[in-house]
Amino acid sequence: MRRTSKAADASSVDAVPPGRLYVVGTPIGNLQDLTERARQVLCDVALVAAEDTRHSRRLLEHVGSRARCVSLHQHNEAQRSVQILAALSAGDSVALISDAGTPLISDPGYLLLRAVREAGITAVPVPGPSAVTAALSVAALPTERFCFEGFLPSRARARDERLQSLRDEPRTLVFFEAPHRVLATLQSMCSAFGGERPLTLARELTKQYETLVYGDLQAALGALQADPGRQRGEFVLVVAGAAPAAVKTSVESRRVLEVLLEELAPAKAARVAARLTGESRQALYRLAIQLSEA
Ligand code: SAM
Repeated sequence: MRRTSKAADASSVDAVPPGRLYVVGTPIGNLQDLTERARQVLCDVALVAAEDTRHSRRLLEHVGSRARCVSLHQHNEAQRSVQILAALSAGDSVALISDAGTPLISDPGYLLLRAVREAGITAVPVPGPSAVTAALSVAALPTERFCFEGFLPSRARARDERLQSLRDEPRTLVFFEAPHRVLATLQSMCSAFGGERPLTLARELTKQYETLVYGDLQAALGALQADPGRQRGEFVLVVAGAAPAAVKTSVESRRVLEVLLEELAPAKAARVAARLTGESRQALYRLAIQLSEA
């Protein structure tokens, strides 16, 4: 995908249109998950920017790509983005890949994408696997809305604070975790969310030792403690969101509401009960609905 100017005249203005940046999802373990389009793009581009070139050369060889491969990782992304931008401006198309899964999802690429956007160069997504969607697809937890938290901070205190701040989050929570921290993280989650909070632990997805543990935080912690072999590999922790807060009303208000509900509709009964007891009308209304449905 290198385009050259038709104008051979050296004095003419360089009219080479810029190349495109393809952001390509690659397998998270099983090479057969590489899409046909991803394979084609990796073969067609002039340059591949990869997190770890040694790791990605194996993938490029596997698909028969002869593209030049350069590194782009968290320590060189700013400088490398300048070079990649120059290649794109000169008409070369470039593919951005990470070690596994979708670039930018807890992986480098944001600085490059921002520079590409500012330069008015086209970025093209070539979607593929991601551990996030793979885990969610089998977690058997609500997925209409979810909250991707990536990696928790590595320091215990910062991790505990982050988890505390998520305690009342009602959406399903998705975390990445490394093998040497998974036990400590599950322990912190038990403290922050309560051991009975439902969890699906997805380990080594699409690989030989793929394991899914369904249950709650306490049970998953116990299972991993009992078998250190299960602590190895890559993990996604999918944690159920917080259950809706229980209706908090006094015993007396409940009795008042029960009497009123014999004569009034729930909305009116809640309004009158709130005036009589001084408690929250919304809380009393929720309770009134529960009582009238019982
Ligand atoms: N960009 C990648 C993606 O879209 O899946 C994620 C990269 S992040 C640096 C790596 C983390 O993703 C791992 O530590 C692990 O939490 C999760 N992960 C990646 N591959 C996995 C797999 N096969 N099974 C379970 N988790 C995986």
